[in-house]
Formats: sequence, C-alpha cells, structure tokens
Amino acid sequence: MRQPFIAGNWKMHKTNQEAVEMVEELVDLVGDIGDVDIAICAPATALAPLSEVTAGTNIALGAEDMHWEEEGAYTGEISPLMLKDVGCEYVILGHSERRDYFGETDEDVNKKVQTALKHSLKPIICVGESLAQREAEGTKDVVKNQVLAALDGVNIDDLKVITIAYEPLWAIGTGKSASTKEANEVIKYIRNVLRNEFGKVADSMRIQYGGSVKPHNISEFMATSDIDGALVGSASLEAQSFADIVKFE
Ligand code: PEP
Repeated sequence: MRQPFIAGNWKMHKTNQEAVEMVEELVDLVGDIGDVDIAICAPATALAPLSEVTAGTNIALGAEDMHWEEEGAYTGEISPLMLKDVGCEYVILGHSERRDYFGETDEDVNKKVQTALKHSLKPIICVGESLAQREAEGTKDVVKNQVLAALDGVNIDDLKVITIAYEPLWAIGTGKSASTKEANEVIKYIRNVLRNEFGKVADSMRIQYGGSVKPHNISEFMATSDIDGALVGSASLEAQSFADIVKFE
C-alpha cells in the first residue's frame, strides 16, 4: 500500500549543464515507470533549469535544504517560497551533513518541517546514528529522539506526505552499507515509534534507507518488510546507475 520512493541527493555536485544532461538521460531511462515515485534533490542553482526538463515527467524535483522563514535577512539562505517557485515537490531536511558540518539542531529541523508543510513541500527527514552511538547500543534512542523532535507539533493529517530517511552516519558515502537486516530492524522500530505516537497514519508514511545504496544492493533492501525506498547519494549522480536503482526488481 506504500508506493516505493527512490530519491537522489546530489549534494554539492553538478553545474547546470551537467545537471540538465543527466536528467534528460534519466527521463529516457525511467520515463515509463509508474509504480515507483522518483525524485532528484539537486543544488538550489540547478532547480530552475531542471524544472524545465522534469515538467510533465514522472521525475519530481527536490531541494537539499531550506530555511524555515519565508523571507528576510538570512544571507545565503533559500526559502520555501523560492523552492515552490522553481517547481520543487520535496525537500530534504536534517541531512547528517547539515547537522554535522553546519550545526543544525533537532529544533532547526522541526522549524523547517513545519514551514515546508505550510507551503506544501514534502519533507524527507533524515535521521541516523553515528558509529560511536551504534557501538554504545544507542541507535534506537537516537533515531527515536530525532524522529519525535522533527515531528513535534506537526498536524497528524500532514504526516502522510512526510518521508523519513534512516541513514546511519557510518554508511553514508563510505561504501559500507548497513546489512539489510540491520536497516530493516531500525526502520521497523521507527515505524513502531510513529505508530505509538501518532496511530495508524504510521502505516502510510514512507521510510527509506540511505547509506551506500547501489544498483547491486538495492533489491535486497527493497525485499525487506519495512523499507519503502532509498535516499541515494553518490549512485544518483550518474543516470544509468540511478535508473538501475529505480528499476530495482
Ligand atoms: C546521502 O547522502 O544521503 C547518502 C546516502 O549518500 P551515499 O549513497 O553516497 O552513501
């Protein structure tokens, strides 16, 4: 009942020409797929030109972050209104690189989630533990706290448009993915947390796995009971490899 959702996170990669060429190729490769939701989350500079390529296709556009205010004196920031203006449907919030390198807190993530929802942007909220936290058996507490903090005060009716991306930090960009069993177990736990807190809407919320997802391992993740899709970093930069992930069967 939950449609699989595969999203790419380009991070700080691609000029506009590179971005447009890649997505044109992607449209040719996955344009006929109807049973998987597909999104490319790109740097803010590429969103306007990409919206011309993705218009009328099955590829949705997403941003990698945004500010929680609609406008104001926030040099260098991008607002939800600007993202809507260039055709974004999704926005990644609370990626571990934002949390680690730019000091983003759970409270910041929560403010961003609330503003995104207000402007009909669908948040992809990233949560996940560090290696030290995993080794100290803190994974469940960490993800529970991050999920509940991000969703604090959110209207229950809005939850079904939210995606949670479980991304263990030690698996991001390292080539070392979590085992399917480990990932599914944490994702199942996250769904239980959501169910306990919000009730049956938890069953319509999609929870992705992220961390070194590649064409060769995606089908194992998708075969599990609770993983609804993937947030894909480096393997989303090239059209054929991202298409192979989207066509995971
Ligand atoms: C990410 O950046 O969200 C990610 C999962 O990266 P990678 O696939 O490269 O590990």
